[in-house]
Amino acid sequence: MPALLAAWMPAWLEGYVLVFLLLGAATLITVSVPFHGQWRLLINTMFLLCIGVGAWKGGFVPGVITVLYTEMVAPRLVVHTFKLSQVNWVSTFEVVLISLLLSWAASSQRRLKRSNEELDARVRERTAELEELNRELQRRETRLVEQTEQLAQSNADLEQFAYIASHDLQEPLRMVSIYTELFAQQFHGSIDEHADRHIQTIIEGAQRMETLLRDLLAYSHTIHAEQRPPETFGSAEAVEVAMSRLEVPLRETGAKVKVESLPEIHGDRVGLTQVFQNLMSNALKYRSPENCEIRIAAQPDGEWWILSVEDNGIGIHGDYHETIFKPFKRLHGREYRGSGVGLAICRRIVERQGGRIWVESEPGRGAKFRFTIRAARPSGQTRTEPKGQAVAF
Ligand code: ADP
Repeated sequence: MPALLAAWMPAWLEGYVLVFLLLGAATLITVSVPFHGQWRLLINTMFLLCIGVGAWKGGFVPGVITVLYTEMVAPRLVVHTFKLSQVNWVSTFEVVLISLLLSWAASSQRRLKRSNEELDARVRERTAELEELNRELQRRETRLVEQTEQLAQSNADLEQFAYIASHDLQEPLRMVSIYTELFAQQFHGSIDEHADRHIQTIIEGAQRMETLLRDLLAYSHTIHAEQRPPETFGSAEAVEVAMSRLEVPLRETGAKVKVESLPEIHGDRVGLTQVFQNLMSNALKYRSPENCEIRIAAQPDGEWWILSVEDNGIGIHGDYHETIFKPFKRLHGREYRGSGVGLAICRRIVERQGGRIWVESEPGRGAKFRFTIRAARPSGQTRTEPKGQAVAF
């Protein structure tokens, strides 16, 4: 019934209409039946029910109206001589109180029900939103995985291509070099000056290309070659081997190399020797015009050692401290020979062993390349005795 009424009237009016209908019906029944015997009991129960329903469903005021009607008007329907002075005010007051209590309980229950429904609706809404978000997240994750796989595949293809290209191009290039040099030897001075210059340019170009291909191949090797099992060795030995490989440029430049006491480390011996060689070779190449000093040192860092190769050369601007480690990134032109993969190889080797490499430098103030390598004995941190101290070549 309330639901039916709610469809076409304001909510506050519903309670009044309800008690009006209830009391109307009760009045009709009361005047239509005799007020004695079982009928009397029925009529009393009916009005009691009206009070209950009026207070519970109708609300505070409609509830009180029902009580007042039952106590003051209804008796006149059966006893025509009934007067207001006969009303039992105490019991009326008690019934009004009960009716108010009923209305209060009903309205609390309705409020509770409403807030439960609102809460339910909000939870459903949020759950739906979360489910949608979750689905979107899964879609994105799938896309990301696919893209990562594609990227890894295209990277692998590219690296494979670089490896094959650099390997297979070496042979024909060597032929070009050899025959151009033979040609230059046989016909030098017999054509004219221009021809000699052109041939010289071809020879230099071929040599540069050879260097590039060799370095590209070396870089590809660091990607494709299987990682060597780590071993424990003295880093001083690796420095010694690197220095012996660089004996000629060290002597030619008259560089002073100071090797501090270096630790035992755990990693790829061949790779680390290569790292020292590349860093020292760069220190010689990018030296200052006056003198060349190289200092190799180590500093403990928990389970790691930070090894450093420091020079007093031309230095590197802060803007390029990151880029120089990318393959084929060079900061110079022909004045310094090179292909820009030396540091990229160093990074590969160090990172493959879980370490990192970086540079601290300023233009004109030398460069300090530092890299981390796992210590052989984390707690002991023993150092080997300095092998080279200050060595002048
Ligand atoms: P390459 O020396 O063949 O150009 P690298 O990868 O070894 O390639 O070095 C990248 C660039 O970083 C070099 O071109 C040079 O500009 C800069 N660089 C490397 N080492 C030093 C250094 N010790 N001092 C100054 N600049 C350096």
